[in-house]
Amino acid sequence: MTTDAVSTDALAAARLEVAECGRRMIADGLVLGTAGNVSVRVGELVAVSPSGMAYDRIEPVDVAVVDLDGNRVDGPHAPSSETPMHLAVYAETGAGAVVHHHGLHSAAVSTVVEELPALHYYVLQLGGPVRVARYATYGTAELARAVHAALQDRTAALMQNHGAVAHGDTLEQAYDRARLVEWLCALHVTATGIGTPRVLTGEELAAVARRRTGSRHEGGLPRRAHPRHPRSPGPRHPARSAAACSTRSGSPRRAPRAAPPSTSRSSAPRW
Ligand SMILES: [Zn+2]
Repeated sequence: MTTDAVSTDALAAARLEVAECGRRMIADGLVLGTAGNVSVRVGELVAVSPSGMAYDRIEPVDVAVVDLDGNRVDGPHAPSSETPMHLAVYAETGAGAVVHHHGLHSAAVSTVVEELPALHYYVLQLGGPVRVARYATYGTAELARAVHAALQDRTAALMQNHGAVAHGDTLEQAYDRARLVEWLCALHVTATGIGTPRVLTGEELAAVARRRTGSRHEGGLPRRAHPRHPRSPGPRHPARSAAACSTRSGSPRRAPRAAPPSTSRSSAPRW
């Protein structure tokens, strides 16, 4: 498989998205230095952050392109060491993008729980309470398998003693979910710091889910909590979501530190 097999424009747009998203992750405090990584799928290829390169230095041309087996087909740098994890997500879902970060709250909470308790009904946006993938050395197939297991029926997971990962149909959606995980973990840290938080019951979450369904029938905005992805999504069109992590002005678009969990776009749920 070569880049000839997919739209050159779509691949160029994906590489731009990946480069810009890295800058936004730094601006949003989700990563430091070279930590974390982002990818966008374009048909049978994946544009992924280069390995070991600071995000503020990554230009679209630096973004690696690999096939679904992990073979580099374009780009001057090796792909991120976490590429196997990204490819495992693409292999098992119809995801169009994957975001992995080392947000402080996510990394902290991943060290103390097996599953992030449902302190807020926003967990439904991720398919339910977020699981913690068991620890494995970064970049290994073992970690990829652990993350895959934690993502069953979920669109995000914590990674024990490491960070968080989320996927979505577009990079915008994956990034929103990755930020939501960090917000939920910040909520957990804050709540447990001042007492023993009450946890929403399955019944209470089901009531919210029913309300969301009703809202959708009435033309409401909420997205599906965990959309059923087709196994073979076909070529992606990143240009549709090119503003996902856009820093069009050249300077990072900084979000407030205590930003609401449903983030930047008008299409994001507001419930
Ligand atoms: Zn990592």
